Amino acid sequence: MTTMPTSIPPLQDPAAAGREMHALAADLFPICRSITGNGVRETLKRLSALAPMSIREVPTGAPLLDWTAPKEWTIRDAWIKDPSGRKIVDFRASNLHVAGYSIPVRRKIPLAELQQHLHSLPDHPDWIPYRTNYYGEDWGFCLAHRVRSALADGTYEVCIDSTLDAGSLTYGELVLPGAGPGEILVTAHVCHPSLADDNLSGLVVAAFLARHLKDTERRLTLRFLFIPGTIGSIAWLALNETAVSRVRHGLVLACVGDAAPFTYKRSRRGDAPVDRAVAHLLKHRPGGGRLVDFSPYGYDERQFNSPGFNLPVGCLMRSMYGTFPEYHTSADNLDFVKPTSLAESAGLVLDVLDVLENNRRFLNLNPKGEPQLGRRGLYSWIGGQNDKAAAQMALLWVLNLSDGRHSLLDIAERADLPFPAIRNAAAQLQERGLLNEVEEA
Ligand code: ZN
Repeated sequence: MTTMPTSIPPLQDPAAAGREMHALAADLFPICRSITGNGVRETLKRLSALAPMSIREVPTGAPLLDWTAPKEWTIRDAWIKDPSGRKIVDFRASNLHVAGYSIPVRRKIPLAELQQHLHSLPDHPDWIPYRTNYYGEDWGFCLAHRVRSALADGTYEVCIDSTLDAGSLTYGELVLPGAGPGEILVTAHVCHPSLADDNLSGLVVAAFLARHLKDTERRLTLRFLFIPGTIGSIAWLALNETAVSRVRHGLVLACVGDAAPFTYKRSRRGDAPVDRAVAHLLKHRPGGGRLVDFSPYGYDERQFNSPGFNLPVGCLMRSMYGTFPEYHTSADNLDFVKPTSLAESAGLVLDVLDVLENNRRFLNLNPKGEPQLGRRGLYSWIGGQNDKAAAQMALLWVLNLSDGRHSLLDIAERADLPFPAIRNAAAQLQERGLLNEVEEA
């Protein structure tokens, strides 16, 4: 039996990690992504420089649970010219200007008809909203309300040079095998165009973690999915029904780059180990964080937690989808995402993985009375710890609750001590022959 130092190393230099992730987000920012198309392929290709992944292509029309793989969307250009011939909206200035999945159009129309295809935000007149028409064939433009409200009557020329045709749905998958049968799923959606927090933040954190952990020895396999929202998780679930049974824990990463405190949305089960791990870590973290219950709305956790799968997948965010003004607007830009926040988010995910990887159960081999700690050198070990009181209490709690039924996370919660203190105590006790690991059934 080996001892258990964590196999999930923390970030060595969080500031440098944050800068690197932010620079990668800046590189990906201009790409026009959607649920299909070359924007997704280009994004996955660039992420692969950090985290070499398998690129999966699912042909248009393939049956996927109750859905089918959609047509592939290609966008080359889009603009609106006013009655004087001046371009007032230009896709080349911002890819948010064209509603995602817009069908091709080239027409001259009166302002009243054009208005039916425009989207703007009166409360934020300088921001461009983000809109899509994924499942109804239509076209639209998004623009600053200040521009829209200045439009004069007359005939406007509209052009959307797009193709919506048979092709494929693309996603990325990266597996870091562990020694045991269980898996942790880490996913991020790749379908949004020039929006930074939602969800370049999740993509760069996931890719960074994949690189950080690629040479570590773990029991749990780590499976990273870089998928278009909704249809991507449905596609993966449809194509991997056997792999699904190996998923022990999962995290959807979204909006993890802004400066707000953490928000964690629990899995449908509500008390899965991942739910308890995140709650424990947020409780022991300066600044804490907010826990919200599962609801069947949001990101890909909706699909993973559908009743036929019911996978224990939670969603880690900072600002929560739909609840902050910048959400789905041009104000969700590279300034809204902070290098320090990206690094903190990556650090928290590593802490979660540490708990899940090391949340084991032990048997106290000397359960009658307390064993003598001094004789076994444990007092000198306590003396070398930063928090001596916590180290001593951790030893006593691990000895007392290691009856084969309590996991280390159970013990950390009951002792109200940070998980690493409990993990370290268990490692010391195991090394000195006082604990034996209980193999999972
Ligand atoms: Zn979104």
